[in-house]
Amino acid sequence: MSINNLVEETKKRAAAIRKEGDYINPDTGLLHCGVCKEPKQYIVDTRIRKPFPAALECRCEREQKQKEKGFWERYDKAQRQKELAKGIKSEAFKGFTFDTDDRRNTALSKLCCDYVRNWGEMEKLSGGLLFYGDVGGGKSFYAGCIANALIKREVPVLFTSLRELVDNRQAAKYRGAELINLQEYRLFVLDDIGAEKLNKADLDTAFSVIDDIYLLKRPLIVTTNLTVAQLRTPDNQETARLYSRILERCPEPVFVDNREHNRTTAADEKRKQMEKILYT
Ligand SMILES: [Zn+2]
Repeated sequence: MSINNLVEETKKRAAAIRKEGDYINPDTGLLHCGVCKEPKQYIVDTRIRKPFPAALECRCEREQKQKEKGFWERYDKAQRQKELAKGIKSEAFKGFTFDTDDRRNTALSKLCCDYVRNWGEMEKLSGGLLFYGDVGGGKSFYAGCIANALIKREVPVLFTSLRELVDNRQAAKYRGAELINLQEYRLFVLDDIGAEKLNKADLDTAFSVIDDIYLLKRPLIVTTNLTVAQLRTPDNQETARLYSRILERCPEPVFVDNREHNRTTAADEKRKQMEKILYT
């Protein structure tokens, strides 16, 4: 490309990308941005071929691109969070977060935070937890805090009950319902083990669910009102087989004391609100 041709070509390409306010630098003949004053063109001179003009992003264009990239990244993240939140099967559990922890049971709060912080190692060890103790200590709450914190870190968690998993498996088998794909999840939280009424067929299904989680080598967190002794010596063989497999996956029993650390339950909260309205 001769010098004259280069000037002509630069002009032609400048016209194609020119926006209102942009101007030609009289010294270089290149197009500049009217806002940030940076050049929007440069001459490529590779010595292999003759020099030619190419477009260059000015600061405004780079910033705009960055803004759009940020928007799409935030959008994608929000979409992923929305998908992951579907793993928490009860709406109430979605509100169980460390932000709402009253820290009354500091040792337990710390344990759960540490579990989340050391998630990588916990996952490698398939290290589960067993929260046991009477009603009101916050077992589900703390299990929920772990689940929600990990979801925030984009770890797929399934937080449900054994009853729901049994029902899902039976519905899939007999009525063609969509089977929950356990492989999609990296942590399982089963709430209130032992509270469900399971007949012989249910117990078989429950065992196969727990066995699948066991074979996947993924951590399992369970909450229960039963004591560890009750879990070890249930009154029939099928339940014993089921609990023994759960205990194998949850080698760390954590006693959640409800006497010293009684948490305000949703019912307490509602009662207080009603009392305020009715008696004041
Ligand atoms: Zn600009």
